[in-house]
Amino acid sequence: MISKIKYNLRLLDGGSMLGSTLVQGKMAQGLLAQSNPPEGKLIVLTGPSGVGKGTLLRSLLRRHPDLYLSISMTTRAPRSGEIHGRDYYFVTRPEFDRMAANHQLLEWAEFAGNCYGTPRQPVEDQIRQGRWVVLEIELQGARQIFQSYPDALGIFILPPSMDALEQRLRHRASESEEAILRRLDRAKTEVNAANEFDIRVVNDNLEQALHQIELALFTPKPDLKAEIETVAV
Ligand code: 5GP
Repeated sequence: MISKIKYNLRLLDGGSMLGSTLVQGKMAQGLLAQSNPPEGKLIVLTGPSGVGKGTLLRSLLRRHPDLYLSISMTTRAPRSGEIHGRDYYFVTRPEFDRMAANHQLLEWAEFAGNCYGTPRQPVEDQIRQGRWVVLEIELQGARQIFQSYPDALGIFILPPSMDALEQRLRHRASESEEAILRRLDRAKTEVNAANEFDIRVVNDNLEQALHQIELALFTPKPDLKAEIETVAV
């Protein structure tokens, strides 16, 4: 079992400890540089269920309202407080299958007994308009995106430990024991694939994790080098 994950983000320009003001300055430069001509970009955010991707994303979007978050389609039932069209498009299995068969999904996958997919049209439209589009998706979908969009930036969010992840999943208390165990099992597979992503960020401190994501977003992909050491005992 993975008990400890050591994370080390290195940037070739040596600027691994840039302050957030500077990051925002870099963002402004990046957006200015983009405006002529605008250059769309796909950002894939993946990480095990319960790792806190949602919270990270909400903060990221508040700080960078120019980012466009793709709203996925799912056959999963809404959790309490979730809203159709804001959190997901909640659809039936036949509706989902029809979208997939008509190539209206950019990627899709089955996860813990439900289907999840990215509606193609809005993402393609936004990219064409030069927007930066964020997909918050699981591993199989991320792999499909990396095949079709090799320039997509892949960010993998890691838990501080697998025990911490289990606690978070149980604390959420929105699912049956069987569903929690399925999510935990899947989490192990996903964490083992973290090296397929451009960078890996451990989410044990929201502010630090956000800062690392911002650095990755506003650093040109060829200049971005990251490494992870996973210690198994
Ligand atoms: P949840 O049921 O907890 O909202 O999501 C379960 C998993 O599905 C999460 O890992 C989430 O990132 C992933 N997911 C959400 N939307 C999509 C999607 O459109 N495509 C894929 N492949 N995975 C998704």
